[in-house]
Amino acid sequence: MAAPASTHESLVPLAEARAFVLERVRRPEPVRVPLSKARRLVLAETIAATEPVPPFANTAVDGFAVQAADVATATETSPVTLRVIGTIAAGAPPSIPVGPGEAVRIMTGAPMPPGADAVVMVELTDGWTGNDTVAVRAAVALGAHIRAAGDDVVPGTVVFEPGEVLTPGHLGVLASLGYLDVLAWPRPRVGVVSTGDELMEGPQALEPGQIRDSNRITLLALVDELGCEGIDLGIARDTEADITAAIERGVLECDALLTSGGVSMGAFDYVKVVLDRIGEMRWMQVAIKPAKPFAFGTVTTDHATVPVFGLPGNPVSSMVSFELFARPALRKLMGVPEAQWERTPVRAITDEPIRGHDDGKVHFNRVLTVLSHDGRVHVRTSGGQGSHHLLAMARADALAVVPVGPAIEAGGEVDVLVLR
Ligand code: AMP
Ligand code: MG
Repeated sequence: MAAPASTHESLVPLAEARAFVLERVRRPEPVRVPLSKARRLVLAETIAATEPVPPFANTAVDGFAVQAADVATATETSPVTLRVIGTIAAGAPPSIPVGPGEAVRIMTGAPMPPGADAVVMVELTDGWTGNDTVAVRAAVALGAHIRAAGDDVVPGTVVFEPGEVLTPGHLGVLASLGYLDVLAWPRPRVGVVSTGDELMEGPQALEPGQIRDSNRITLLALVDELGCEGIDLGIARDTEADITAAIERGVLECDALLTSGGVSMGAFDYVKVVLDRIGEMRWMQVAIKPAKPFAFGTVTTDHATVPVFGLPGNPVSSMVSFELFARPALRKLMGVPEAQWERTPVRAITDEPIRGHDDGKVHFNRVLTVLSHDGRVHVRTSGGQGSHHLLAMARADALAVVPVGPAIEAGGEVDVLVLR
């Protein structure tokens, strides 16, 4: 191979790195999932209604089922009196036919009795005391307060298509159509391992050189936010044996694995060593800042080929690396349609100057967005831009995508990835 022509030659463009990852992540077969476990999963079947919803014409209010013509002249001062011939509660059959001059007392959700063509709200009636008449104080339109059969869903209607994410409302519609389970892509189990001899957990005093592990809790939360199941695989120490054990356990138990740390140039960066030994691995210096070092491998077990994302250790880098590589790949694994694997950038206005750079990398600056009175998204920095400035990342709600080039003046445009 020819020697690098420029100083940036060894950097892998983001799009190439991402394509490399996405090509190697395989979507599994859909499975039937009980509705109670299906929230946030991606639907894998077409749902066509075979029944009307509501299943029968029913009343939207508590009141009296009547013939509208009977009460056409009713007013506050000159009410119309009807004979009450019975009561229908929600859940009861509509067994009492309504004739001229008659009314049936009826509760919200109860089926309309035959013969009735409107419902008068109880608030517009007087005098029903449990005996046999009611005074109606207002006229009602034909069909008033009746919810027709199929008013929400007509039989034969395609209600949902494959690729839709199942929200609480989707699950309710499926339940109303009689479904107990649904065909969806299974929820990926995603293992998360932190690596590092310096890492501790909890409130106890730190020994010199120690820090507390923040990446694991962050990555588990990102996994959960995506709708995957996070599996906490703990902290692996910086030894080949410990990292091998963690990765081997992870690929047996999980559909994808995220490690953080140990993918840089350090003397004890064993993640890439282990991945190289037990999997098919590519170690990259991606042309981005933060999150330049990134290892991606697949480890093949007896059951599956499991993608392993070797994310960098710096807390902001691990989050940005998750956002740019793991998130789209996990969305592919989840069955999300290709057009939605990645976020669509929004063109925003920066309210502050953004420094230019010529290091061959796309910078992902942590920013805060506001939707301004001009109808545009405006951004300003959320704080320190170092890869250890986790607080500024926590406060940010977007990443500004700053390509190589001169400074962007205040008022200039920049693409942003809105994170939430
Ligand atoms: P590494 O990629 O292992 O060289 O780590 C890069 C930097 O990230 C070092 O300062 C580490 O101490 C820090 N780091 C690595 N893993 C974690 C973690 N799980 N939580 C917080 N900081 C970490
Ligand atoms: Mg380390």
